[in-house]
Parts: sequence; C-alpha cells; structure tokens
Amino acid sequence: MASQDYKSPTHNDFRSDTFTTPSPTIIQAASTCSLGDDDYYEDPDTNELGAYVAELSGKESGLYCVSGVMSNQIGLRSLLYQPPYSILCDSRAHVYRYEGAGLSMLSNAMVYPVIPSNGLYMTLEDIKKHIVLSEEYYFATTRVISLENTISGVVVPIEEIARICAWAKTVGVKTHLDGARLWNASAATGVSIKEYCQHFDTVSLCLSKGIGAPIGSVLVADKETIKIGKRFRKQLGGNLRQAGVITSMAMVALKMNFPNALKYTHEVAKEVAELCTKNDIKLLYPTDTNFVWLDFSEQPEGTAQKFNELGKKNGIRLSGNRIGIHYQISKESVEALKRTILELYQK
Ligand SMILES: *Cc1c(COP(=O)(O)O)cnc(C)c1O
Repeated sequence: MASQDYKSPTHNDFRSDTFTTPSPTIIQAASTCSLGDDDYYEDPDTNELGAYVAELSGKESGLYCVSGVMSNQIGLRSLLYQPPYSILCDSRAHVYRYEGAGLSMLSNAMVYPVIPSNGLYMTLEDIKKHIVLSEEYYFATTRVISLENTISGVVVPIEEIARICAWAKTVGVKTHLDGARLWNASAATGVSIKEYCQHFDTVSLCLSKGIGAPIGSVLVADKETIKIGKRFRKQLGGNLRQAGVITSMAMVALKMNFPNALKYTHEVAKEVAELCTKNDIKLLYPTDTNFVWLDFSEQPEGTAQKFNELGKKNGIRLSGNRIGIHYQISKESVEALKRTILELYQK
C-alpha cells in the first residue's frame, strides 16, 4: 500500500489500475522461480498458480494466460460450437468493445450488446428481452451470456448473478464472467471469489490489474473446458516455455495484495468521491470499488483535456473522467488529485 517501503514510479498515475509496477518483493520471486517448460505443463510454479486460483474460485482447473484479453477470448471460444451463434453481453463489455473484435475474428460470433435499463449492470429482465433462444434459421442463436464484474467499477450484486445464471441453465445457455476485477468485487462485498464463480461455466481473473502482477490472467473452468481452452491458447501462440519467471511474480502479488491492497484502493476512491459529493460535483457511477467517474456530460467540450492538463501541472497523470486508484498511489498524489478536481470545478 502507500505506506509500503517501495515507492512506485507510477505512484501518481490515475489512468488505470494496470499501471502498478512490480515491487522488489515481486521481482525477487522471479529470481527463485521454477524453470520447467509450461508447454509440456511441467513448470511447478505455473501449475501451482493455476491450481491456486482454481481452488480460490471453486473450479477444477486453471489455465494461465498472458493477458485478460486472451483468457476472455479463450473462455468464450471454448463454450461455443459450430457457428452461427451469438454472445449476449453489456454494450460496454470489455469482451465486445476493447478486445480488437476478437469475438468476431476468433469465435465467428455475433454479439448482442445490451444497454442495461438501470444504467449500471444487466438484469435478468434485460437479458430476457434481448436474448435469442429460437433455433429458427433466421437467427444467430445465443449460446453464451457474458457478464462483467466489476463493470465500470460497479459491483454486480451476487443475487442478480445467481438469478441470471440459474435461468441461463434452464434454457441451456452457457455463462462466462469477465472477472478482470472480480477481486475488487469480492474485497468490497465480502462475497468470496468462489461464491461468485460457482454460477459460471468459465471465469477470467486478471492478475495484472489491482492485484499488481506485471503479467497475467487465469481462466478457470471444469477440466473438460480447460482442455478445450488449452488448444485455443496454443493456437494463439499463448503457450509459454519457462513461464515460472512471470507466474511466480503473479503468485506473490496475489497472495500479498488480495484483499487488503484492494480495500485500500476502495477507501481512497470513496474519500475522493466524498470530496466530490460535498462540493456538488456530479459522479457518473456509484463508487463501489476503485474507480471514481466524474460526470462531464453537462460540462463544456474539452473538459477532459483540461482536467488532464491541470493534473499534469499538479504532477499527476489523468485520463479524462475515469479516475483509477491502484495500491501504489501515494498520499501526496491523492492530495494532488483532490486539488486538481477542485481546480477544475473552480471550488
Ligand atoms: C483489463 C481488462 C481485461 C483484460 O485486458 P488486458 O488488456 O488483456 O489486460 C478484460 N476485461 C476487463 C473488464 C478489463 O478491465
């Protein structure tokens, strides 16, 4: 956390929680790692990480992937057979918007993007309205519902997840969870990773976001699905050799930072959100976890750029209205951020 011995060069970078840097403790893990060949599944550290995350999530098996995009794409691809078919997800979903059109290129999948009626997350009612269950030859029948938790930093309630996934089972539709930040949801609510994951066929869990590993994600599912996923990982060039060099660092980061470092980031985000509320500064989403979203919709054009420039002047890096808090953000940077927000709104 901010109080740790190591001051990250990105202690002032609010653009995303991907900007953590591996601390000496994390890097040290690489120097004593196992050196097996993971393409032969012979690397103990990599196998241990897969098994550890699988156990945390209550799944049979875990497959290490070099990125969250890779584990999402492999997870979804592994649930799909014989196109045409469709995947239903939130219109803001990472798998749909930010993965280089991977679903159309790698899975030949049509996507039905849904705008959640509550403005925060999809409900079962939203899904029922947009899903295509008909097998008529006109349609791309929906085979997978893909959820994201957290989405835009907002926690999707476990009750809603349970409803959606239970219903999906009754209609024979598989479920994937983009859990890039499921760690944050769990740290914020106290609902365990296992409790969230039990509802889904496949879950992708990022280690390079708030957890603070330099590289990696784990896809968890049952053994059969992971076996299928292994072939897709190979096709993508995602099988590694001495993977222990990076998986050892991911393991140390995970054990060190979940859940306490994430809780710290949530506290900081709440502190910033409270400052905004106190000063009548509107937020776009509730601050459930580590993101604070300023609402620029009623601000003049160019506000985002102005905010970035004010930040630069105050020694911090910003990326428009989305403020991401990671565990290496320093106290001084938080103060600089608060000053920058007040300056922007001339409070
Ligand atoms: C970061 C992220 C991913 C994975 O993206 P990478 O670029 O591979 O790290 C997937 N889903 C969500 C919601 C993310 O925020």
